[in-house]
Amino acid sequence: MNDVIAIDGPAGAGKSTIARRVASQLGYTYIDTGAMYRAVALWAIRTGIKPDEATRLEQLAVAAEIGLDAQQRVFLNGEEITEAIRTPEVSALASRVAAVGGVRTALVLKQRAIAASRGVVMEGRDIGTVVFPAARVKIFLDADPGERVQRRATEQPDVPTEQLAAQIAERDARDRGRTESPLLQAPDAVYVDSTGLTLEQVEKKILDIIEVSKGNTPQVE
Ligand code: C5P
Repeated sequence: MNDVIAIDGPAGAGKSTIARRVASQLGYTYIDTGAMYRAVALWAIRTGIKPDEATRLEQLAVAAEIGLDAQQRVFLNGEEITEAIRTPEVSALASRVAAVGGVRTALVLKQRAIAASRGVVMEGRDIGTVVFPAARVKIFLDADPGERVQRRATEQPDVPTEQLAAQIAERDARDRGRTESPLLQAPDAVYVDSTGLTLEQVEKKILDIIEVSKGNTPQVE
């Protein structure tokens, strides 16, 4: 296993932006694991597979060829799906698909394979707890629920704020409450609260944590 920086946390905490910036500072590859769950959800929608069809969802996850390139474009079986996976419908279904154990097993294998050959900053919900429990650095990035909704409102100005708040609350409850790899802070993760901080301040905090842990050798799994 190469060097892994794991960043977990709830929706809207700023994980993607921060993880991308930190990866670029370190010269590491940025991996958005949420995009992989979204890709499976999109494929399920297109093929008419329902959220309760666990076996068929697992088959999709195993068969899916998911590509993430350096420009943060996302590909499913060779087709670019970068925009298509950002709809509210895909967001909602992704968190349901992500509760299926077989889907998680398939995607975790793909995530580990990516990190086998390079240093990564990987963000998601279970990176420090399940995907890479031996990661050298683990961050749990959080923010006040009101601020997380505000950030999403800036990204999606056309959607009423109450609707965004309801969507985030529903997704968080599902991600934290599921039996399979629920969203939780690993015991050895550093908790970072980004409430009221600028992107630059959060980035600096995380780079400082990474710097301090330089002596930590990645534990061999
Ligand atoms: O990070 P993002 O919001 O794009 O993730 C979409 C959904 O995928 C999340 O709501 C969560 O249910 C699921 N997910 C997960 N484990 C990960 C990454 C994402 O369960 N490592």
